[in-house]
Amino acid sequence: MAANGAASGEPEHKCCGVSAEEIQEKREVRRNKQQPWIVLKLAVFLTIAIIVYTWYVYVGRLCIPMIRRDAGALGSHGLGIGLLVVFVVLGLFMIWSYEKIVLTPPGFARDYVQKTPAPAGHGGFHTYWESESEAELAAARYGPPQQSAPLPTPTPPQSRRSESHHKRSTSDSAPRIPEKVLNGTASVRHHGSQNGHAPSPTKESFGTTDRPPAAVGAHSAVTTEKGHGNGHAQPAPISAKHTRRPPKTPVLRDEYRYCYKDGFLKPHRAHHCRACGTCVLKYDHHCPWIGQCVGARNHRFFYIFDFWAFLFCSFTFASLVGLVGQAASNRPDFSIDGQHIAIIVISGFFMIFTFSLLVAHGILIAGSFSTVEQMAVQRTTDREKRVMARLHSRWAFSARKATRKLWDAEWGRLGKEGHMWWLGGTRNNWEATMGDKVWMWFLPIGQSPDDGMSYVVNPRFDAEGRWLPRSEWPAELR
Ligand SMILES: [Zn+2]
Ligand SMILES: [Zn+2]
Repeated sequence: MAANGAASGEPEHKCCGVSAEEIQEKREVRRNKQQPWIVLKLAVFLTIAIIVYTWYVYVGRLCIPMIRRDAGALGSHGLGIGLLVVFVVLGLFMIWSYEKIVLTPPGFARDYVQKTPAPAGHGGFHTYWESESEAELAAARYGPPQQSAPLPTPTPPQSRRSESHHKRSTSDSAPRIPEKVLNGTASVRHHGSQNGHAPSPTKESFGTTDRPPAAVGAHSAVTTEKGHGNGHAQPAPISAKHTRRPPKTPVLRDEYRYCYKDGFLKPHRAHHCRACGTCVLKYDHHCPWIGQCVGARNHRFFYIFDFWAFLFCSFTFASLVGLVGQAASNRPDFSIDGQHIAIIVISGFFMIFTFSLLVAHGILIAGSFSTVEQMAVQRTTDREKRVMARLHSRWAFSARKATRKLWDAEWGRLGKEGHMWWLGGTRNNWEATMGDKVWMWFLPIGQSPDDGMSYVVNPRFDAEGRWLPRSEWPAELR
Protein backbone atom coordinates (compact mmCIF):
# COMPACT_ATOMS: atom_id res chain seq x y z
CA MET A 1 0.00 0.00 0.00
CA ALA A 2 2.68 2.42 1.07
CA ALA A 3 4.88 1.37 -1.81
CA ASN A 4 2.03 1.92 -4.23
CA GLY A 5 1.45 5.36 -2.85
CA ALA A 6 5.12 6.24 -3.25
CA ALA A 7 5.25 4.86 -6.75
CA SER A 8 2.26 6.85 -7.87
CA GLY A 9 3.75 9.96 -6.32
CA GLU A 10 0.87 10.53 -3.89
CA PRO A 11 1.76 12.33 -0.68
CA GLU A 12 2.13 9.95 2.22
CA HIS A 13 1.39 10.57 5.87
CA LYS A 14 3.22 8.03 7.92
CA CYS A 15 3.45 7.42 11.61
CA CYS A 16 6.02 4.88 12.83
CA GLY A 17 6.30 3.67 9.26
CA VAL A 18 2.57 2.96 8.87
CA SER A 19 0.37 5.11 6.67
CA ALA A 20 -2.96 6.39 7.89
CA GLU A 21 -4.56 4.45 5.08
CA GLU A 22 -3.06 1.20 6.34
CA ILE A 23 -4.21 1.89 9.87
CA GLN A 24 -7.69 2.65 8.60
CA GLU A 25 -7.72 -0.51 6.52
CA LYS A 26 -6.58 -2.67 9.44
CA ARG A 27 -9.20 -1.10 11.65
CA GLU A 28 -11.86 -1.87 9.07
CA VAL A 29 -10.71 -5.48 8.76
CA ARG A 30 -10.77 -5.88 12.54
CA ARG A 31 -14.22 -4.31 12.75
CA ASN A 32 -15.64 -6.68 10.14
CA LYS A 33 -13.98 -9.78 11.49
CA GLN A 34 -16.16 -12.48 12.87
CA GLN A 35 -16.14 -12.56 16.65
CA PRO A 36 -14.06 -15.38 18.16
CA TRP A 37 -16.14 -18.47 18.91
CA ILE A 38 -15.77 -18.13 22.66
CA VAL A 39 -16.98 -14.51 22.61
CA LEU A 40 -19.95 -15.44 20.41
CA LYS A 41 -20.98 -18.24 22.77
CA LEU A 42 -20.16 -16.63 26.10
CA ALA A 43 -23.75 -15.75 26.98
CA VAL A 44 -24.85 -19.28 26.07
CA PHE A 45 -22.65 -20.65 28.86
CA LEU A 46 -23.95 -17.97 31.17
CA THR A 47 -27.53 -18.94 30.30
CA ILE A 48 -26.82 -22.61 30.95
CA ALA A 49 -25.25 -21.70 34.30
CA ILE A 50 -28.35 -19.66 35.25
CA ILE A 51 -30.64 -22.55 34.28
CA VAL A 52 -28.60 -25.06 36.32
CA TYR A 53 -28.57 -22.75 39.33
CA THR A 54 -32.32 -22.17 39.08
CA TRP A 55 -32.94 -25.93 39.03
CA TYR A 56 -30.68 -26.44 42.02
CA VAL A 57 -32.43 -23.81 44.13
CA TYR A 58 -36.00 -24.57 43.08
CA VAL A 59 -35.76 -28.34 43.25
CA GLY A 60 -33.09 -28.79 45.91
CA ARG A 61 -33.92 -25.93 48.26
CA LEU A 62 -37.65 -25.52 47.76
CA CYS A 63 -39.43 -28.66 46.52
CA ILE A 64 -37.37 -31.42 48.15
CA PRO A 65 -37.57 -29.98 51.69
CA MET A 66 -41.36 -29.77 51.19
CA ILE A 67 -41.56 -33.35 49.91
CA ARG A 68 -39.34 -34.56 52.79
CA ARG A 69 -41.53 -32.62 55.23
CA ASP A 70 -38.49 -30.81 56.63
CA ALA A 71 -39.09 -28.44 59.52
CA GLY A 72 -38.30 -25.23 57.63
CA ALA A 73 -40.09 -26.21 54.38
CA LEU A 74 -42.26 -23.50 52.81
CA GLY A 75 -45.22 -25.77 52.01
CA SER A 76 -46.86 -29.14 52.36
CA HIS A 77 -45.70 -32.50 50.98
CA GLY A 78 -48.40 -32.50 48.28
CA LEU A 79 -47.69 -28.94 47.24
CA GLY A 80 -44.00 -29.82 46.94
CA ILE A 81 -44.80 -32.63 44.50
CA GLY A 82 -47.19 -30.46 42.50
CA LEU A 83 -44.70 -27.60 42.17
CA LEU A 84 -41.92 -30.00 41.24
CA VAL A 85 -43.96 -31.60 38.44
CA VAL A 86 -44.97 -28.27 36.87
CA PHE A 87 -41.45 -26.90 37.25
CA VAL A 88 -39.87 -29.92 35.58
CA VAL A 89 -42.38 -29.99 32.71
CA LEU A 90 -41.99 -26.27 31.93
CA GLY A 91 -38.24 -26.51 32.47
CA LEU A 92 -37.87 -29.41 30.06
CA PHE A 93 -39.86 -27.63 27.36
CA MET A 94 -37.69 -24.58 27.85
CA ILE A 95 -34.43 -26.54 27.72
CA TRP A 96 -35.62 -28.49 24.68
CA SER A 97 -36.49 -25.30 22.80
CA TYR A 98 -33.27 -23.63 23.96
CA GLU A 99 -31.24 -26.50 22.60
CA LYS A 100 -33.15 -26.17 19.30
CA ILE A 101 -32.58 -22.43 18.90
CA VAL A 102 -28.91 -22.65 19.87
CA LEU A 103 -28.26 -25.44 17.38
CA THR A 104 -30.41 -24.22 14.47
CA PRO A 105 -28.52 -21.75 12.28
CA PRO A 106 -30.45 -18.80 10.83
CA GLY A 107 -29.36 -19.65 7.29
CA PHE A 108 -26.38 -18.02 5.60
CA ALA A 109 -26.47 -16.38 2.19
CA ARG A 110 -22.97 -17.64 1.34
CA ASP A 111 -24.37 -21.19 1.14
CA TYR A 112 -26.72 -20.23 -1.68
CA VAL A 113 -25.22 -17.31 -3.54
CA GLN A 114 -22.24 -17.22 -5.88
CA LYS A 115 -19.69 -14.46 -5.50
CA THR A 116 -20.03 -11.78 -8.15
CA PRO A 117 -18.10 -8.63 -9.00
CA ALA A 118 -19.36 -5.44 -7.40
CA PRO A 119 -21.84 -3.43 -9.48
CA ALA A 120 -19.94 -0.99 -11.65
CA GLY A 121 -19.55 2.58 -10.55
CA HIS A 122 -20.57 2.18 -6.95
CA GLY A 123 -18.69 1.98 -3.73
CA GLY A 124 -21.40 0.44 -1.65
CA PHE A 125 -24.52 1.41 0.16
CA HIS A 126 -24.57 0.02 3.64
CA THR A 127 -27.31 2.10 4.77
CA TYR A 128 -30.45 1.14 6.46
CA TRP A 129 -29.51 2.28 9.92
CA GLU A 130 -27.66 5.28 8.65
CA SER A 131 -30.57 7.07 7.13
CA GLU A 132 -29.38 10.56 7.89
CA SER A 133 -25.94 10.08 6.40
CA GLU A 134 -27.46 8.43 3.41
CA ALA A 135 -28.64 11.67 1.93
CA GLU A 136 -25.06 12.83 2.01
CA LEU A 137 -23.89 9.55 0.57
CA ALA A 138 -26.31 9.83 -2.30
CA ALA A 139 -25.38 13.46 -2.84
CA ALA A 140 -21.71 12.52 -2.97
CA ARG A 141 -22.36 9.84 -5.54
CA TYR A 142 -24.97 11.47 -7.71
CA GLY A 143 -24.34 15.13 -7.13
CA PRO A 144 -26.17 17.50 -4.82
CA PRO A 145 -29.96 17.37 -4.63
CA GLN A 146 -31.61 19.71 -7.07
CA GLN A 147 -32.60 22.23 -4.44
CA SER A 148 -32.22 25.06 -6.88
CA ALA A 149 -34.69 23.56 -9.32
CA PRO A 150 -37.46 26.03 -10.13
CA LEU A 151 -40.21 25.66 -7.63
CA PRO A 152 -43.74 25.31 -8.85
CA THR A 153 -46.25 27.96 -8.08
CA PRO A 154 -48.96 26.86 -5.73
CA THR A 155 -52.08 25.66 -7.43
CA PRO A 156 -55.60 25.29 -6.18
CA PRO A 157 -56.22 22.06 -4.30
CA GLN A 158 -58.46 20.62 -7.03
CA SER A 159 -55.66 20.54 -9.55
CA ARG A 160 -52.93 19.35 -7.24
CA ARG A 161 -53.59 15.69 -7.44
CA SER A 162 -52.95 15.50 -11.13
CA GLU A 163 -50.01 17.83 -10.75
CA SER A 164 -48.42 15.69 -8.11
CA HIS A 165 -48.82 12.67 -10.31
CA HIS A 166 -47.22 14.48 -13.14
CA LYS A 167 -44.31 15.46 -10.96
CA ARG A 168 -43.91 11.97 -9.65
CA SER A 169 -43.77 10.48 -13.07
CA THR A 170 -41.37 13.14 -14.19
CA SER A 171 -39.02 12.36 -11.37
CA ASP A 172 -39.38 8.66 -11.95
CA SER A 173 -38.35 9.04 -15.51
CA ALA A 174 -35.25 10.97 -14.55
CA PRO A 175 -31.93 9.53 -15.70
CA ARG A 176 -30.88 6.22 -14.12
CA ILE A 177 -34.38 5.10 -13.29
CA PRO A 178 -35.88 2.72 -15.77
CA GLU A 179 -39.54 2.54 -16.56
CA LYS A 180 -41.72 1.34 -13.76
CA VAL A 181 -42.82 -2.22 -13.65
CA LEU A 182 -46.20 -2.44 -12.11
CA ASN A 183 -46.06 -6.02 -11.09
CA GLY A 184 -43.87 -6.98 -8.15
CA THR A 185 -43.43 -10.49 -9.48
CA ALA A 186 -41.76 -9.04 -12.47
CA SER A 187 -39.16 -7.54 -10.21
CA VAL A 188 -38.56 -10.92 -8.64
CA ARG A 189 -37.90 -12.46 -11.99
CA HIS A 190 -35.73 -9.58 -13.05
CA HIS A 191 -33.42 -9.89 -10.07
CA GLY A 192 -33.65 -13.60 -9.73
CA SER A 193 -32.23 -14.03 -13.18
CA GLN A 194 -29.03 -12.41 -12.08
CA ASN A 195 -28.00 -14.84 -9.46
CA GLY A 196 -30.27 -17.77 -9.77
CA HIS A 197 -32.46 -17.20 -6.74
CA ALA A 198 -35.30 -15.07 -5.65
CA PRO A 199 -34.14 -11.53 -5.17
CA SER A 200 -34.48 -9.66 -2.00
CA PRO A 201 -35.35 -6.16 -1.13
CA THR A 202 -34.65 -5.52 2.44
CA LYS A 203 -34.88 -3.42 5.51
CA GLU A 204 -33.19 -0.91 3.37
CA SER A 205 -36.53 -0.65 1.69
CA PHE A 206 -37.70 1.99 4.03
CA GLY A 207 -34.58 2.96 5.69
CA THR A 208 -32.92 4.87 3.01
CA THR A 209 -32.94 8.34 1.72
CA ASP A 210 -36.41 9.52 1.19
CA ARG A 211 -35.15 12.17 -1.13
CA PRO A 212 -32.83 10.57 -3.61
CA PRO A 213 -31.82 12.78 -6.45
CA ALA A 214 -34.49 11.45 -8.75
CA ALA A 215 -37.24 12.21 -6.30
CA VAL A 216 -36.14 15.57 -5.10
CA GLY A 217 -38.09 17.47 -7.69
CA ALA A 218 -41.35 16.00 -6.55
CA HIS A 219 -40.64 16.49 -2.88
CA SER A 220 -39.40 20.01 -3.07
CA ALA A 221 -42.82 21.07 -4.22
CA VAL A 222 -44.33 19.55 -1.14
CA THR A 223 -41.81 21.23 1.08
CA THR A 224 -42.63 24.56 -0.41
CA GLU A 225 -46.32 24.03 0.04
CA LYS A 226 -45.73 23.43 3.72
CA GLY A 227 -43.93 26.70 4.05
CA HIS A 228 -40.51 25.15 4.59
CA GLY A 229 -39.18 26.15 1.27
CA ASN A 230 -37.19 29.23 0.47
CA GLY A 231 -40.10 31.58 0.21
CA HIS A 232 -40.93 31.18 -3.46
CA ALA A 233 -44.42 30.01 -2.70
CA GLN A 234 -47.23 31.60 -0.80
CA PRO A 235 -48.43 29.67 2.21
CA ALA A 236 -51.61 28.14 0.94
CA PRO A 237 -54.13 25.71 2.32
CA ILE A 238 -52.66 22.43 1.23
CA SER A 239 -54.20 19.28 0.05
CA ALA A 240 -53.08 16.90 2.74
CA LYS A 241 -53.03 13.88 0.55
CA HIS A 242 -50.01 15.21 -1.29
CA THR A 243 -47.81 15.28 1.74
CA ARG A 244 -47.11 11.62 2.28
CA ARG A 245 -43.56 11.04 1.19
CA PRO A 246 -42.64 7.38 1.04
CA PRO A 247 -38.92 6.72 0.65
CA LYS A 248 -37.91 6.70 -3.00
CA THR A 249 -34.66 4.81 -2.69
CA PRO A 250 -34.43 2.08 -5.32
CA VAL A 251 -33.43 -0.52 -2.78
CA LEU A 252 -33.74 -3.45 -5.15
CA ARG A 253 -31.01 -2.16 -7.42
CA ASP A 254 -27.81 -4.18 -7.32
CA GLU A 255 -25.79 -1.43 -5.69
CA TYR A 256 -28.12 -1.53 -2.71
CA ARG A 257 -28.23 -5.29 -2.53
CA TYR A 258 -24.56 -6.00 -2.94
CA CYS A 259 -22.60 -7.01 0.15
CA TYR A 260 -19.14 -5.57 -0.28
CA LYS A 261 -17.84 -7.63 2.61
CA ASP A 262 -18.98 -10.98 1.28
CA GLY A 263 -18.78 -10.07 -2.41
CA PHE A 264 -22.20 -11.16 -3.59
CA LEU A 265 -25.70 -9.90 -4.20
CA LYS A 266 -27.68 -10.47 -1.04
CA PRO A 267 -30.88 -12.47 -1.33
CA HIS A 268 -33.96 -10.45 -0.44
CA ARG A 269 -34.12 -9.55 3.25
CA ALA A 270 -30.63 -10.88 3.97
CA HIS A 271 -28.22 -8.63 5.82
CA HIS A 272 -24.67 -8.76 6.97
CA CYS A 273 -24.09 -9.53 10.63
CA ARG A 274 -20.88 -8.08 11.92
CA ALA A 275 -20.64 -10.49 14.85
CA CYS A 276 -21.16 -13.56 12.67
CA GLY A 277 -19.05 -12.04 9.90
CA THR A 278 -21.42 -13.01 7.11
CA CYS A 279 -24.81 -12.31 5.52
CA VAL A 280 -27.75 -13.90 7.30
CA LEU A 281 -30.99 -14.85 5.53
CA LYS A 282 -33.93 -12.65 6.59
CA TYR A 283 -31.67 -11.16 9.21
CA ASP A 284 -33.59 -10.18 12.30
CA HIS A 285 -30.98 -9.48 14.96
CA HIS A 286 -27.87 -10.96 16.52
CA CYS A 287 -28.80 -12.49 19.85
CA PRO A 288 -25.96 -13.05 22.33
CA TRP A 289 -28.20 -15.27 24.50
CA ILE A 290 -28.27 -17.88 21.78
CA GLY A 291 -24.78 -17.11 20.48
CA GLN A 292 -25.88 -16.48 16.91
CA CYS A 293 -28.28 -14.56 14.69
CA VAL A 294 -32.02 -14.86 14.53
CA GLY A 295 -32.96 -15.20 10.87
CA ALA A 296 -35.17 -16.98 8.39
CA ARG A 297 -34.48 -20.54 9.46
CA ASN A 298 -34.66 -20.12 13.22
CA HIS A 299 -37.03 -17.23 13.88
CA ARG A 300 -39.78 -19.76 14.62
CA PHE A 301 -37.63 -21.58 17.18
CA PHE A 302 -36.59 -18.30 18.72
CA TYR A 303 -40.24 -17.45 19.32
CA ILE A 304 -41.05 -20.91 20.68
CA PHE A 305 -38.11 -20.73 23.09
CA ASP A 306 -39.20 -17.30 24.17
CA PHE A 307 -42.69 -18.61 24.88
CA TRP A 308 -41.49 -21.49 27.08
CA ALA A 309 -38.88 -19.35 28.78
CA PHE A 310 -41.59 -16.85 29.68
CA LEU A 311 -43.85 -19.55 31.13
CA PHE A 312 -40.96 -21.10 33.06
CA CYS A 313 -39.78 -17.79 34.49
CA SER A 314 -43.32 -16.68 35.37
CA PHE A 315 -44.08 -19.91 37.18
CA THR A 316 -40.79 -19.88 39.08
CA PHE A 317 -41.19 -16.23 40.03
CA ALA A 318 -44.85 -16.42 41.04
CA SER A 319 -44.58 -19.62 43.10
CA LEU A 320 -41.47 -18.48 44.97
CA VAL A 321 -42.85 -15.01 45.68
CA GLY A 322 -46.08 -16.57 46.93
CA LEU A 323 -44.44 -19.12 49.23
CA VAL A 324 -41.76 -16.82 50.60
CA GLY A 325 -44.27 -14.00 51.12
CA GLN A 326 -46.70 -16.31 52.89
CA ALA A 327 -44.02 -17.73 55.18
CA ALA A 328 -42.64 -14.28 55.96
CA SER A 329 -46.03 -12.97 57.05
CA ASN A 330 -47.23 -16.09 58.91
CA ARG A 331 -44.17 -17.39 60.71
CA PRO A 332 -42.54 -15.29 63.39
CA ASP A 333 -39.39 -17.45 63.37
CA PHE A 334 -39.03 -17.41 59.56
CA SER A 335 -35.48 -16.92 58.33
CA ILE A 336 -35.32 -16.09 54.67
CA ASP A 337 -33.16 -18.14 52.30
CA GLY A 338 -30.92 -15.78 50.33
CA GLN A 339 -30.84 -18.17 47.38
CA HIS A 340 -34.63 -18.03 47.10
CA ILE A 341 -34.34 -14.26 46.84
CA ALA A 342 -31.63 -14.61 44.18
CA ILE A 343 -33.92 -16.80 42.08
CA ILE A 344 -36.84 -14.41 42.56
CA VAL A 345 -34.69 -11.58 41.22
CA ILE A 346 -33.28 -13.58 38.29
CA SER A 347 -36.61 -15.13 37.26
CA GLY A 348 -38.37 -11.79 37.65
CA PHE A 349 -35.87 -10.11 35.38
CA PHE A 350 -36.11 -12.78 32.69
CA MET A 351 -39.89 -12.90 33.01
CA ILE A 352 -40.08 -9.22 32.03
CA PHE A 353 -37.40 -9.61 29.39
CA THR A 354 -39.00 -12.62 27.70
CA PHE A 355 -42.44 -11.04 27.91
CA SER A 356 -41.27 -7.93 26.08
CA LEU A 357 -39.66 -10.12 23.42
CA LEU A 358 -42.81 -12.19 23.13
CA VAL A 359 -44.91 -9.10 22.46
CA ALA A 360 -42.37 -7.44 20.18
CA HIS A 361 -41.74 -10.52 18.05
CA GLY A 362 -45.42 -11.42 18.01
CA ILE A 363 -46.05 -8.04 16.37
CA LEU A 364 -43.12 -8.51 13.98
CA ILE A 365 -44.17 -11.98 12.87
CA ALA A 366 -47.82 -10.98 12.49
CA GLY A 367 -46.72 -8.06 10.32
CA SER A 368 -44.16 -10.02 8.28
CA PHE A 369 -41.36 -7.80 9.52
CA SER A 370 -37.86 -8.44 10.64
CA THR A 371 -36.63 -6.16 13.41
CA VAL A 372 -34.59 -4.10 10.97
CA GLU A 373 -37.47 -3.79 8.53
CA GLN A 374 -39.75 -2.58 11.29
CA MET A 375 -37.20 0.00 12.36
CA ALA A 376 -37.20 1.31 8.82
CA VAL A 377 -41.01 1.51 8.74
CA GLN A 378 -40.89 3.28 12.08
CA ARG A 379 -38.70 5.96 10.54
CA THR A 380 -41.31 6.48 7.84
CA THR A 381 -44.00 6.64 10.50
CA ASP A 382 -42.01 9.20 12.46
CA ARG A 383 -41.52 11.30 9.37
CA GLU A 384 -45.23 11.15 8.72
CA LYS A 385 -45.94 12.28 12.26
CA ARG A 386 -43.80 15.33 11.68
CA VAL A 387 -45.69 16.16 8.51
CA MET A 388 -48.96 15.69 10.37
CA ALA A 389 -47.78 17.98 13.15
CA ARG A 390 -47.24 20.73 10.60
CA LEU A 391 -50.68 20.21 9.17
CA HIS A 392 -52.85 19.91 12.27
CA SER A 393 -52.65 20.66 15.94
CA ARG A 394 -52.14 17.78 18.33
CA TRP A 395 -55.79 17.77 19.42
CA ALA A 396 -57.39 18.03 15.99
CA PHE A 397 -58.24 14.36 16.04
CA SER A 398 -60.85 14.35 13.34
CA ALA A 399 -58.73 16.49 11.00
CA ARG A 400 -55.79 14.14 11.54
CA LYS A 401 -57.98 11.16 10.91
CA ALA A 402 -59.32 12.70 7.72
CA THR A 403 -55.83 13.45 6.48
CA ARG A 404 -54.62 9.96 7.21
CA LYS A 405 -57.63 8.63 5.36
CA LEU A 406 -56.71 10.70 2.34
CA TRP A 407 -53.14 9.47 2.42
CA ASP A 408 -54.25 5.89 2.78
CA ALA A 409 -56.69 6.35 -0.07
CA GLU A 410 -53.85 7.49 -2.27
CA TRP A 411 -51.13 5.13 -1.07
CA GLY A 412 -52.54 2.34 1.06
CA ARG A 413 -51.61 1.79 4.69
CA LEU A 414 -48.13 2.17 6.13
CA GLY A 415 -46.67 -1.14 7.23
CA LYS A 416 -49.27 -3.08 5.24
CA GLU A 417 -49.77 -2.08 1.61
CA GLY A 418 -46.68 0.04 2.14
CA HIS A 419 -44.56 -2.85 3.42
CA MET A 420 -42.57 -4.68 0.79
CA TRP A 421 -43.00 -8.10 2.44
CA TRP A 422 -46.61 -7.85 3.57
CA LEU A 423 -48.45 -11.00 2.63
CA GLY A 424 -51.95 -9.58 2.62
CA GLY A 425 -53.01 -10.40 6.16
CA THR A 426 -51.97 -11.29 9.69
CA ARG A 427 -52.69 -14.98 9.33
CA ASN A 428 -50.62 -15.28 6.16
CA ASN A 429 -47.78 -13.37 7.75
CA TRP A 430 -47.88 -15.49 10.88
CA GLU A 431 -47.94 -18.79 9.04
CA ALA A 432 -45.06 -17.78 6.79
CA THR A 433 -42.79 -17.72 9.83
CA MET A 434 -44.49 -19.96 12.39
CA GLY A 435 -46.09 -22.61 10.17
CA ASP A 436 -49.68 -23.41 9.28
CA LYS A 437 -50.27 -25.99 12.03
CA VAL A 438 -50.94 -24.94 15.61
CA TRP A 439 -48.46 -27.43 17.09
CA MET A 440 -45.74 -25.75 15.06
CA TRP A 441 -46.26 -22.61 17.12
CA PHE A 442 -45.42 -24.36 20.39
CA LEU A 443 -43.19 -27.36 19.74
CA PRO A 444 -39.59 -26.99 18.64
CA ILE A 445 -39.68 -29.80 16.11
CA GLY A 446 -39.58 -29.95 12.34
CA GLN A 447 -38.26 -27.11 10.27
CA SER A 448 -39.08 -23.49 9.76
CA PRO A 449 -41.49 -22.89 6.86
CA ASP A 450 -39.35 -19.94 5.86
CA ASP A 451 -36.37 -20.97 3.74
CA GLY A 452 -35.00 -17.43 3.62
CA MET A 453 -34.74 -17.38 -0.17
CA SER A 454 -38.20 -17.28 -1.69
CA TYR A 455 -39.78 -13.94 -0.93
CA VAL A 456 -42.17 -12.27 -3.30
CA VAL A 457 -42.16 -8.50 -3.49
CA ASN A 458 -45.45 -6.83 -2.64
CA PRO A 459 -46.87 -5.95 -6.08
CA ARG A 460 -47.60 -2.47 -4.74
CA PHE A 461 -43.90 -1.75 -5.16
CA ASP A 462 -42.07 -1.12 -8.40
CA ALA A 463 -39.27 -3.24 -9.82
CA GLU A 464 -36.68 -1.23 -7.94
CA GLY A 465 -38.42 -1.45 -4.61
CA ARG A 466 -40.29 1.84 -4.35
CA TRP A 467 -43.78 2.06 -2.91
CA LEU A 468 -46.27 3.01 -5.61
CA PRO A 469 -49.39 5.11 -5.17
CA ARG A 470 -52.63 3.19 -5.44
CA SER A 471 -53.27 4.54 -8.94
CA GLU A 472 -50.22 2.63 -10.15
CA TRP A 473 -50.96 -0.68 -8.45
CA PRO A 474 -52.04 -3.63 -10.55
CA ALA A 475 -55.72 -3.07 -11.37
CA GLU A 476 -56.98 -6.01 -9.29
CA LEU A 477 -55.42 -4.62 -6.09
CA ARG A 478 -56.63 -1.04 -6.27
ZN1 LIG B 1 -22.36 -9.89 3.92
ZN1 LIG C 1 -24.98 -12.65 13.97
